[in-house]
Amino acid sequence: MRFTAFLIKYAEIAIKGKNRPIFEDALVKQIRRALKNVDGSFHVYKTQGRMHVDTEGEFDYDGAVAALRKVFGITTICPVLVLSDEGFDALKENVVDYMIGTHGDGEHSFKVNARRARKNFPVESMEINARVGEAILSAMPGMHVDVREPEIMLHIEIREKIYVYSISIPGAGGMPVGTGGKAMLLLSGGIDSPVAGYRIAKRGVMLNAVYFHAPPYTSERARQKVEDLARIVSEYAGEIWLHVVNFTEIQKYIYEKCPHDELTIIMRRYMMRIAERIALETDCLGLVTGESIGQVASQTMQSLVATNEVCTTLPVFRPLIAFDKQEIVETSKAIGSYETSILPFEDCCTIWVAKHPVTKPSVKVIRRHEENLREKIDEMVERAVTERDVVKI
Ligand code: ATP
Ligand code: MG
Repeated sequence: MRFTAFLIKYAEIAIKGKNRPIFEDALVKQIRRALKNVDGSFHVYKTQGRMHVDTEGEFDYDGAVAALRKVFGITTICPVLVLSDEGFDALKENVVDYMIGTHGDGEHSFKVNARRARKNFPVESMEINARVGEAILSAMPGMHVDVREPEIMLHIEIREKIYVYSISIPGAGGMPVGTGGKAMLLLSGGIDSPVAGYRIAKRGVMLNAVYFHAPPYTSERARQKVEDLARIVSEYAGEIWLHVVNFTEIQKYIYEKCPHDELTIIMRRYMMRIAERIALETDCLGLVTGESIGQVASQTMQSLVATNEVCTTLPVFRPLIAFDKQEIVETSKAIGSYETSILPFEDCCTIWVAKHPVTKPSVKVIRRHEENLREKIDEMVERAVTERDVVKI
């Protein structure tokens, strides 16, 4: 079957009243972005309450579907057979061929739903329904009509051209990226943070990302892996500015001056502080982490209190907070980040971690131990922020 157009359906954004054009324009923009790297020539536009993608000449059908499935805001993608108007009999024949080509396997119930938007077409909608339905029944013995709950809803729209569709490919859901402001994702090389970024982007939020590395203790390949993960997330979230912060001297200084069982927590507090600073500089409205209650020592409720405390201005979004590791892994496989996440390059937290890190840190105690850093930490943080690398993904 040669589909040459797509009808794009969206749900949540349709109910946003006066904001609706903003949402629709964001969706058009995201669809165009997603199709930019697909072979073919695509024309994306909106009409009343829906979105269309027309194609011209040859195009990569599978690539286009795969790209559209990554666009947040889309609920359903319908591949469309576009016919020129050559009269009713030709239409009937073409539709029967279409049905054999797409639903020729086994038994199905169906209903024809014709809509004559162009009134000079000689046959009325109801009559199209009846006559096309009959033709399908006589050509396809496995078919029967069910007007109330058909498995296959066969749409025939008579406009300038004739649009025939019956296949619904599920879209990614969510809201179009760009409708929800911007947030700073703390992106490590692990499984969780790319999934956290994906989740927030799904609510329409654009992402920036920050990665803390500790050369030479963490390798260039670990950094490359984070860039690769950012690229995978950006297939959904659009362009991401990745801020790469050199964390080595801060990490070493903490190691020197603070109890080793508190190292991870204090490090995490400095990551949050630095991330918040960069976030505020880049107009982000929140931080995003991949934390989940109880997953590791630094993610107990008590540890989360300690990490959270240093963010003074922005909210910290933790979309995975109540998910099991297995559930996170499933999402990470579904979005395509898992294989990259499990590559064995160390991230900066794993190098100096204590054998028995505190699981119930007291904020008071932590603050007191951070006092040991008084002499140099401010200038180190300053340096880390100002000397960061920024990469456009
Ligand atoms: P992940 O799989 O996302 O690495 P994790 O289970 O390894 O998470 P932690 O190492 O405790 O958990 O990190 C918790 C969160 O802190 C991460 O999800 C991420 O958002 C952030 N984070 C940790 N290390 C880094 C880093 N080197 N750079 C940026 N963010 C980080
Ligand atoms: Mg990690």
